[in-house]
Amino acid sequence: MDARTLGALAFALVFLAGASRRRRDRPGKFWSWSEVYADQADRTMEADAYASALATVVLDPLRESIGQPLTVSSWFRSAAHNKAIGGVEDSHHLTGGAVDLLPAPGWDAVRMARELVRLGVPFDEVIAYSPERGGHLHVTWLQRYGPPTAELLYAPPQGGFVQLGKEAIA
Ligand SMILES: [Zn+2]
Repeated sequence: MDARTLGALAFALVFLAGASRRRRDRPGKFWSWSEVYADQADRTMEADAYASALATVVLDPLRESIGQPLTVSSWFRSAAHNKAIGGVEDSHHLTGGAVDLLPAPGWDAVRMARELVRLGVPFDEVIAYSPERGGHLHVTWLQRYGPPTAELLYAPPQGGFVQLGKEAIA
């Protein structure tokens, strides 16, 4: 191996080390891995990728627009954890591509949903929970190959889910 090849190889190794360090650093600009995983032992590359994509493409613009920190109440869930808290069996939280956010002061889940629509970011499912049902905003984006399904729902106090028409909240 000549010096030039060796040099190129060394550069590639340093570059890759740096890239993987940056990737591990944090998901998106405003979030941390401890917010994604309650137990860091649950981390997988696949869940990291889903969480990073959700954070960067969907949550960062929302956080930036609201201009205040948003509290994560639930992000990735292991199957055991999801079962323990009564989550639905096929919950998107099992992938890392779904998050529950508590509203910032002066905001509520419906207003945050409206802000996501206004920002034009992709999502598969947004559920705005009434205060009686936790008041959080559930956001799923699984970065599928097809277009995002953009389902927009409201969870009213009496239970169930109703469509939150984009035109109704635009
Ligand atoms: Zn959720």
